[in-house]
Amino acid sequence: MAVTKGNKKPHVLAVPFPAQGHVKPLMKLARQIAKHGIKVTFVNIECVHRQILSSSRAEAEAEDEDMQNLVMTSVSDGRGPGEEHDVFKLLDTLRNSMPRSLTELIETINASTPDERITCVIADITMAYLSRTAESMGAEFVVFSPPSAAAVGILGLIPKLLEEGSMDQDGSVTNGVITSLSKDIPEWKKDEYSWSFAIDLKTQKIFFECSRRIVREVSEARLLISNTCYELETAACDLTPNLLPVGPLTLVNPDGPKPGPKSCSFHPQDLSCLTWLDGKADGSVIYVSFGSLAVFSQQQLDELAFGLEMSGRAFLWVVRADLANGSRAVLPDGLAGENGKIVEWAPQEEVLSHRSVGCFLSHCGWNSTLEGLSRGVPFLCWPYFSDQFHNQKYICDKWEIGLRIDHDENGIRSRHEIREKIDLVFCDDRFRKNASRLKEVTRESVGEGGSSYKNLKKFIDHLRKIC
Ligand code: UDP
Repeated sequence: MAVTKGNKKPHVLAVPFPAQGHVKPLMKLARQIAKHGIKVTFVNIECVHRQILSSSRAEAEAEDEDMQNLVMTSVSDGRGPGEEHDVFKLLDTLRNSMPRSLTELIETINASTPDERITCVIADITMAYLSRTAESMGAEFVVFSPPSAAAVGILGLIPKLLEEGSMDQDGSVTNGVITSLSKDIPEWKKDEYSWSFAIDLKTQKIFFECSRRIVREVSEARLLISNTCYELETAACDLTPNLLPVGPLTLVNPDGPKPGPKSCSFHPQDLSCLTWLDGKADGSVIYVSFGSLAVFSQQQLDELAFGLEMSGRAFLWVVRADLANGSRAVLPDGLAGENGKIVEWAPQEEVLSHRSVGCFLSHCGWNSTLEGLSRGVPFLCWPYFSDQFHNQKYICDKWEIGLRIDHDENGIRSRHEIREKIDLVFCDDRFRKNASRLKEVTRESVGEGGSSYKNLKKFIDHLRKIC
């Protein structure tokens, strides 16, 4: 039971940025806080709230019953009709709408349950501007950071890069500029920064402006809860003094076999792939998934389909309905035969835990990176944007748990390159050995007495004290 002080119980308001890779890890943190007897109200924007409810299975809701302390609610996001799917536009619209929407929500909660007033607001790193809202409502403010500690560290270098003239106002550096935070952290080169989006400079500019604002806002934050673990990113964690690593949250709170709404899946999971995996040999299957946002040309998807087929190995491929630049991909006839299984959305954590998965062909989103490595799965890297290029460097150069799939001079990853790298990653036992070691490292960190375990406990104890 929660400790009460002055007739008040702790009550956390958790506010994620409305993208799959941000909502899911914050929900895992929220579940952990709720498990310790602290009430949490988890606020999504309306369209995301509806999407999560419609994607979860009715029979799975029972699984969430032990989560009475965790309430899901929603607020308007301030966007007009037709803008619902533009995740980038949200960066701006939320900045205008969220302070007012959340103030109204907190006022309603505080008035209706005076014993359970909101005592702490935990908001996504892209929404650190909510610190003023929290403070004006008498609540403590904490930032939640879904990406790596290195991705946070590099943001801090923006002012210096601008000042010395090695970066322009759009966030691009000239060829040859190399940015380093420490000898223990892989360096960044042109187009590898979290805000880089070389294929669309207009979007890059939005990311860069957002990153510059985050730098200012986060520097004022008392505490940054990070989905990483100290042993994985020691040098990067040491760079940000107010950073508290509590991850990998995928291990702290793994999805069960039939996740309910409180797992926050944006799409219905196709569980048939788990039965399909049951029929395959140990370590034999390539799991292919590019997360929730990456898109590709039909030509590139053809190369991938033929590369997988030519490898002669079994593969499970997540082909989202919008994977072909927003449209349904056309796949070669007979691709999903004996050896291939295609799903629109997988229970990814369950898949990566399955004994038959031998390799993860991934876009290297930070959640996917942590989900794979904490289960000891080697990687084939195919980054799309943002921090994924730097995560690839961690995977291939620092941790040595995978290989890059390189593109040619036209920006295409050919079927031959794909087939060759698949062969290499399966044939070299080094990757699996290194991945198994990291699996142990991360498990120890979240296990009783480990660094992430202790940090999370420290934070939860703190939440109890501030009411
Ligand atoms: N995911 C999933 N099923 C899929 C594909 C992805 O559940 O078929 C989840 C995955 O487990 C991860 C998240 O979606 O937690 C994607 O986050 P990530 O940071 O890897 O990439 P992003 O979507 O942000 O690019």
